[in-house]
Amino acid sequence: MPSIFKSQENQQSQDSQQTQELDITALVGVVNQTGAFIYSKDIKGCYTYANQLFLDLAHLHLSDLVGKQDSDFFDSESCKILQENDNLVLEYGKTIEKEEINVIKATGETRIYMSVKKPMRDSSGKITGLFGISTDITKRKHLEISVNEQKVFLDAVLNNVDAFIYMKDSNRVYRYANSRAAELFNIQPNEIIGRLDSELMPQDVADRLWEPDQKVFDTGQKQTCEEIIPNLKNESKHYLTTKIPFRLEDGTATSIGYSTDITELYLLKEKLQRQAITDTLTGLYNRRYFNDQCEREFSHCIRSKSIMSIIIIDIDFFKSINDKFGHPVGDIVLREASNIYKSCLRKENILCRIGGEEFAILLPNTTQQEASILAERIRQTQEQNSIKGEWEMAIKPTISLGVSTLIEADKSFNDLLSRADRALYKAKQHGRNQVWKL
Ligand code: GH3
Ligand code: MG
Ligand code: MG
Repeated sequence: MPSIFKSQENQQSQDSQQTQELDITALVGVVNQTGAFIYSKDIKGCYTYANQLFLDLAHLHLSDLVGKQDSDFFDSESCKILQENDNLVLEYGKTIEKEEINVIKATGETRIYMSVKKPMRDSSGKITGLFGISTDITKRKHLEISVNEQKVFLDAVLNNVDAFIYMKDSNRVYRYANSRAAELFNIQPNEIIGRLDSELMPQDVADRLWEPDQKVFDTGQKQTCEEIIPNLKNESKHYLTTKIPFRLEDGTATSIGYSTDITELYLLKEKLQRQAITDTLTGLYNRRYFNDQCEREFSHCIRSKSIMSIIIIDIDFFKSINDKFGHPVGDIVLREASNIYKSCLRKENILCRIGGEEFAILLPNTTQQEASILAERIRQTQEQNSIKGEWEMAIKPTISLGVSTLIEADKSFNDLLSRADRALYKAKQHGRNQVWKL
């Protein structure tokens, strides 16, 4: 071969060797620069190679590492697990991807790795060792643990708080519900997620409850309101609800609702309101209610130029009934009397006990003549009734009645009331058991 060709050949092989060396240098650079631990082991589990990151961790040079085992770097407990994992690769030829927790002997530090280990084979396919890449996920793992702890804590709070907490998106789809909210529909909290409100409750209820949510989406402002929702037994439950706007990570606008059951409080309020306007002995409305209703009706009559009348009833010689039969029998007479008056009235008439043995009736849209006829009927009904009980003789009380009707000169309801009082006084003066009108 001419020498010129020989030297060309030599040149080519020299070039290719140089390229290969450059490639390897680059590769070693990459391997050393990655944020993962890269290593290889022989069939006995002894290290044959490790990148710089690993060597730094072990405080070794590559030449000192060869032949070392995990037990040289990690505590015995960690090594047991590492060995089990390595065996899966070295004995069974498996590729594994597992979390490994290592306690570093030198520092006593615990690190968590995500390790991928693959078998290394020779040209005949025989396993000769393994390659491994272990990424340190300690920080991520700790973050995951703390996020998880926070979630457990939040779930515990949200599911034990005495309120219904839920989240809906603008398509009326539930994104979250706590346990109490789920109990309301008799399903699991995760079964609510993804459902439309109308799938969980009747459409009309869903529409009603949607109104404050719609306001949250329209205004971007917090809304507070009272809501009535039937429960599974179809009982009306009252809730005090606050709804606030909330944007999810992906930008979805939602409304978070917080509803507290105030049914007991609501019923108590209703009871107290009822008690405030009720006479306990007869169950009729009391003087306060009579005055309020008469004031209202008076204003209405002035505005609409309509008419109204009132009747005042006073039991004659009631004191002597008490004296003769005793106070408790007097109470029975008052109750019986109230039933008699009630039986004579129409739905729109309002009967009240305004004093000891005094009653009053508000008659909206009633002329003086109509009122007088009604008063006379009540008088007669009372006269014809006798009240019997465990006492010696039947009690036959009579009543005197005063009637008054709105006139143009009346400046306030009191003008009407005092005329009825005066009419009653006349009835008493003229011998009782009669109706007078003024
Ligand atoms: P007149 O025909 O003039 O109305 O005579 P009267 O005895 O009915 O009137 P008076 O005002 O002298 O007496 C009313 C009595 O009503 C006095 C009071 O003790 C009695 N009284 C008031 N409230 C009650 C009550 O809740 N129960 C009972 N049993 N008696 C009552
Ligand atoms: Mg009286
Ligand atoms: Mg009386």
